[in-house]
Amino acid sequence: MSPQSSSSAGNRPSRLKVLSLIPPMTQLNTPYPSTAYLTGFLRSRGIEAGQADLALALVLRLLSPEGLAALRGEALARPEAERSAPVNFFLDHYPRYARTIAPVIAFLQGRDDTLAHRIAGRGLLPEGPRFVALDAYDDEDGGDGLGWAFGALGTTDRARHLATLYLNDLADVIRDAADPSFEFVRYAESLAAAQPSFDPLAQALAAPPNLVDRMLAELALAAVDEHRPQLVLLSVPFPGSVYGALRIGQAIRARHPEIRIALGGGFVNTELRELSEPRLFDFVDFVTLDGGERPVLSLVEHVRGERSRERLVRTFVRDGSEVRFVSWPEPDIPFEEVGTPTWDGLPIAQYLSLLDMLNPMHRLWSDGRWNKLTVAHGCYWKKCSFCDVSLDYISRYETASASTLVDRIERIVEETGQTGFHFVDEAAPPKMLKALAEELLRRQLPISWWGNVRFEKTFTPELSELLAESGCIALSGGLEVASDRLLALMKKGVTVDQVARVTRGMADAGILVHAYLMYGFPTQTVQDTVDALEYVRQLFENGCIHSGFFHRFVCTVHSPVGQDPAAYGVELVPLPPGRFAKNDIGFIDPTPMPRGVDHDVLGRGLKKAIYNFMHGVGVEQDVRAWFELPKGVVPKTTVRRDRIALALG
Ligand code: SF4
Repeated sequence: MSPQSSSSAGNRPSRLKVLSLIPPMTQLNTPYPSTAYLTGFLRSRGIEAGQADLALALVLRLLSPEGLAALRGEALARPEAERSAPVNFFLDHYPRYARTIAPVIAFLQGRDDTLAHRIAGRGLLPEGPRFVALDAYDDEDGGDGLGWAFGALGTTDRARHLATLYLNDLADVIRDAADPSFEFVRYAESLAAAQPSFDPLAQALAAPPNLVDRMLAELALAAVDEHRPQLVLLSVPFPGSVYGALRIGQAIRARHPEIRIALGGGFVNTELRELSEPRLFDFVDFVTLDGGERPVLSLVEHVRGERSRERLVRTFVRDGSEVRFVSWPEPDIPFEEVGTPTWDGLPIAQYLSLLDMLNPMHRLWSDGRWNKLTVAHGCYWKKCSFCDVSLDYISRYETASASTLVDRIERIVEETGQTGFHFVDEAAPPKMLKALAEELLRRQLPISWWGNVRFEKTFTPELSELLAESGCIALSGGLEVASDRLLALMKKGVTVDQVARVTRGMADAGILVHAYLMYGFPTQTVQDTVDALEYVRQLFENGCIHSGFFHRFVCTVHSPVGQDPAAYGVELVPLPPGRFAKNDIGFIDPTPMPRGVDHDVLGRGLKKAIYNFMHGVGVEQDVRAWFELPKGVVPKTTVRRDRIALALG
């Protein structure tokens, strides 16, 4: 078969440039890695490629003196009766906001550290509704409301937290005065997340552009003018970046109908696998699934006129009013050959070091500039029953040699000047981490790194020490529902005792340990929940973990629970018919609960408990006290109080 279609071959661009865009919103402290990966890969194949972070650019445009002036105009245009408390506060204190916004941004970008003293003194910034929670603590600690929460942290961190609250106040004003979907994270998320129908997005995209939409369109067109691409890639990792991506597609199409636009990324890979909605293609030409390198390479060849549409790889296209999935069988690019990500073209010095959460692990996520890298593609375990194990990003496990990885690390340090790495694997394999640590030590490369692992027994105290020596500062892992019965049911392959020993070894090596925890798993009883909290309490008490977070279990259609619910004792609630996103699915769990108790009520107690444990508060008390339920409803734990101490021996 000829690789060229007669229609595309006649329209061959002499040279082709690809522009990868990060749409709003992703992260503001460091670039989301997808465009860095794609750009590095394309360049390694000799293809001209550029990238731009429109999420950061949009926020910096909004949070500038000019942006705030425009926001004030929008706020004043609203009838007084409709103005919210944050909007009224903003209008009342506008001159102070206008004076302080540029210095605060410079401070958060690390360009003006000395401003920390003024900010921390709490006389400089206007303090809107987001500061109220701080003042509530004043009564308790008699200080500035931050003392107990910040512990020994210094002036700069206090200032960073206060500056973050100030930006959050402004985000509330943007939402209330200009764009009802605005958030720094989860922007317009509900329009896309698990939405069977495209209608909500279609309606939002058909509405006249608001202030935020107009700024985003200007930025998108400026990026196109700068790079002059023939192919634009929109990477959407989360539902909260879909609306922004489609607004970008809309703006580029209106001005440059000749530019081809492709949509891909984590959201597409999980939620749009059964896409049949033709209206999505009013904004983009192609939607690609899974590991982006091979589909993008085939798109580049297609746009160059060297490959027909029929030979695209894992790509949805629209034919007339029908959506068609084209999947020419071609092997994926091996992980060893994907090249080194490059941040070239991204404004690394302009990212904002925010300090939003006081949880030390979440702090690593939102604070500081981390180079993001994967140690392997996919997960080596791929068994956990709540995880999307049937999807490529988990199921296709591939590694590269330690020496290739350290070569990549060296190149990235050279390019960015930054030595901090976040390994973004779902579960980094211990054997690879060991080899990587040995290679880092052999080359005497002083980096710091953190990532996510399974707390499996291969992580001996000796391995933890080796990892720490090589620069490991933090590890997170799933303890999920801390219950041996449920850990076995979810095929996590670990036990609570084993997690205790592994995490204690890590903690003893000086590594910050964070546990991902879960509640509401099929067949989980109130007794299971109380016992899980008792285990977690003891893990804190015994110095095994420093940080944790309880998530509510969500059943997805790609997980073993979603695919075989009967094996987990639950029944799925059928999804409504739809042509767009498909991911979360409701389920009925017949496990009996006492009257007035459900997982939401219990979840509130779990979250309150862990927040306090992280600050060393209430670790010794009976865990029943955290659940705000009448006496006698919550059973006593069946776990002995020295269970973890005994496991540690
Ligand atoms: S939850 Fe983590 S360890 Fe389990 S299969 Fe998924 S990625 Fe792997």
